[in-house]
Amino acid sequence: MIFNDIIGQNRTKSFLLQLAQSERIPHALLFLGPTGSGNLALAIAFAQLLQCEKRQTAHGFFAESELTTNNQQRTTNDEQRTTESACGVCPACRKAAQFAHPDIHFSFPSVGPNAVSTNFLKEWRAFLSENPYADVNTWLQRLGAENKQGNITKDECNAIIKKLSLKAFEGRYKILVMWLPEYLGKEGNRLLKLIEEPPEQTIFLLAAENQEAILNTILSRCQLVKTDLLSDEEVAEGLMEKRSLHADRARQIAFLAGGDFGAALTVADNPENDDARLLLDWLRKCWRGNAVELVRWTEEFAKLGRENQKQFLHYGLHFLREMMTLIATGNPNLRLRPDELSTAQNMVKVLDFEKIGRLVSLFNDNVYYIERNANPKILFLDTSIQMNKILKTAS
Ligand SMILES: [Zn+2]
Repeated sequence: MIFNDIIGQNRTKSFLLQLAQSERIPHALLFLGPTGSGNLALAIAFAQLLQCEKRQTAHGFFAESELTTNNQQRTTNDEQRTTESACGVCPACRKAAQFAHPDIHFSFPSVGPNAVSTNFLKEWRAFLSENPYADVNTWLQRLGAENKQGNITKDECNAIIKKLSLKAFEGRYKILVMWLPEYLGKEGNRLLKLIEEPPEQTIFLLAAENQEAILNTILSRCQLVKTDLLSDEEVAEGLMEKRSLHADRARQIAFLAGGDFGAALTVADNPENDDARLLLDWLRKCWRGNAVELVRWTEEFAKLGRENQKQFLHYGLHFLREMMTLIATGNPNLRLRPDELSTAQNMVKVLDFEKIGRLVSLFNDNVYYIERNANPKILFLDTSIQMNKILKTAS
């Protein structure tokens, strides 16, 4: 993975390029940013950059004179410079691109009391190849562990200590990329000494999403590299580039994904999930009742076109009726997928039969109005306001 494979995050990329150029790489960097912002992808790209055999000679971009005398041009050449970051073709880059460089080690949450990451490398490589922005639930599902807690175990920590005590095989550095140090729990204490006084040429690249869930003792030993929430425009551009989507379609998905590029790729790859995501997103926004957010949602929704709006409302009716069955019978054996079911189960905690009934008639009315060419912006904004009232009324 090279920096150009990663959407947005230009500020962070520039910082990392300068860091690599300086050759004063901290022992431990913590890439911190929201889910789907690409912090793992950036950590992996940075590891490849450090191992690239051609890095320092790449078109002289790292020549010192240029760094000091030509600052302005360096800024305007940002894009070009990132193209040249890691060469992408040397043996080290080729191995790194397949997540198989012998001096780039990976550690990540897995399942089982004695689990070690090396036992899951095949799944891990496939996971990264498909969607390096995906979230931890998607990963744990892949391991067949939807309902189990993932963790980074004591055995894994010991395996890391052992791996990093060996000499580098062929790279300039020994690099450990750890995804989600949040999952270390107290076992993280086993790594403190190693992170503080690592063997020569050893670098830790941690990619995390939730600062509060990381041991303070680990945090304090890392230099923070923050990644930003991606904008809708960046997500849309990423979808056009990586999935060859039409601009309108890419914008719709980006709007749903709310800055999470992993979720956007999942929607792009599984179009049948669209209505479910759209509905859940809408319900959440109606629940929050933020006027600006709802106006924006309505404007985007209005662009979908009548047939799609109708289909969406029919899906919503199906979902609401299944929820009524759930309340009436307590029977979770419904015609909902697991993620829809868990949402339905959470929602029945705050919605009773009567409220859901009111939502059903609201959706039915909307089908009627849409068929009669009502203005979708006005219609759905009004509906959003009514839904907010229904959701927020005490039962
Ligand atoms: Zn290279």
